[in-house]
Amino acid sequence: MSTKYNFGAGPCILPQEVFKEASNAVLNFNGLSILEVSHRSPEFVAVMDEAIALVKEVLNVPAGYSVMFLQGGASLGFLISALNMSGKNKKAAYINTGTWSSKAIKEAKNAGLEVVEIGSSEDKNFNYIPKDLTIPNDCDFLHFTSNNTIFGTQFKAFPKGDIPLVCDMSSDIFSQEINVADFDIIYAGAQKNLGPAGATLFIVKESILGNSTAEWLPTYLNLKTHHDKESMFNTPPVFSIYVSMLNLRHLKQNGGVPAIEKINIEKANILYTEIDVNPLFEGATAVEDRSNMNVTFKLKNESLTDAFNKAWNEAGIVGLKGHRSVGGYRASIYNALPLSSVQVLVNLMRDFAKANS
Ligand SMILES: *Cc1c(COP(=O)(O)O)cnc(C)c1O
Repeated sequence: MSTKYNFGAGPCILPQEVFKEASNAVLNFNGLSILEVSHRSPEFVAVMDEAIALVKEVLNVPAGYSVMFLQGGASLGFLISALNMSGKNKKAAYINTGTWSSKAIKEAKNAGLEVVEIGSSEDKNFNYIPKDLTIPNDCDFLHFTSNNTIFGTQFKAFPKGDIPLVCDMSSDIFSQEINVADFDIIYAGAQKNLGPAGATLFIVKESILGNSTAEWLPTYLNLKTHHDKESMFNTPPVFSIYVSMLNLRHLKQNGGVPAIEKINIEKANILYTEIDVNPLFEGATAVEDRSNMNVTFKLKNESLTDAFNKAWNEAGIVGLKGHRSVGGYRASIYNALPLSSVQVLVNLMRDFAKANS
């Protein structure tokens, strides 16, 4: 069993039961190790089928959508989504809410698209979500990042215009109910809320497949390839998909997305409340845009930095240091992080305030 409280941003904690079952399968999966099993074996094809079926079930994916597991992470997803959504305008709208959005914009340009940045929070180091956006009609699609893992902001209402919507949901997929029908492409690296690093989940409206106007569309980057081959075009990341499937089973058995969403809101409320009432700390983002997955905060008095770092390290907390572009602290409280771990952090912050004020 893990003995530390892992608030890391990713790869991140998964349920202990999932770790245990995954480790059993490393030693014995139908008489082989899951690490040596053929991806074309009936046993693994069944795993892939169940993983896809579970994604559809827990997210209420409507008919007409394809669920695929690719590789390359969300970072390749930036390029894949832009290439596959290239339409007659060769122009796309992007909302720039941080590092990952900026990288997505760069890849859209690499895909040969003209990019219109319809909103950006770069003026305040991405500590808020831009509002009142005008979504142009002459763009092939609108891309946004639902949760900004590094800065700790999250869209509380998704943008909606008359053009297709594409979303990088890497760090909040499966954490809250969503309406998949609003999107043409949702993509997410597995390692935040789904499973071990390696697989990248794509949920794609089937009617967009094969319609790309991109002049350069390599076989692997064409989503139709993976749809037609049911995620078996080449060797898929077998272990990542297997453990993702176990985690989805676990999520379903525990009440699915609606149940975990309630717990996620409760965890975030407990932590943000402490940040607001504790005299030594302050939140790092606009209050109305606070992420329920990545909670960013700062010490008001930086001279206490060494003392606070010592305190949480000694308490067995890991991964609390903020991203270098933001500083301060970031508590990632993904689905699998138990409420009891949030309570450990909150108690530590309280004790630290008592000892230092
Ligand atoms: C982690 C993360 C990425 C990068 O994912 P990779 O799988 O490492 O490429 C992209 N977008 C968001 C929102 C992330 O949280």
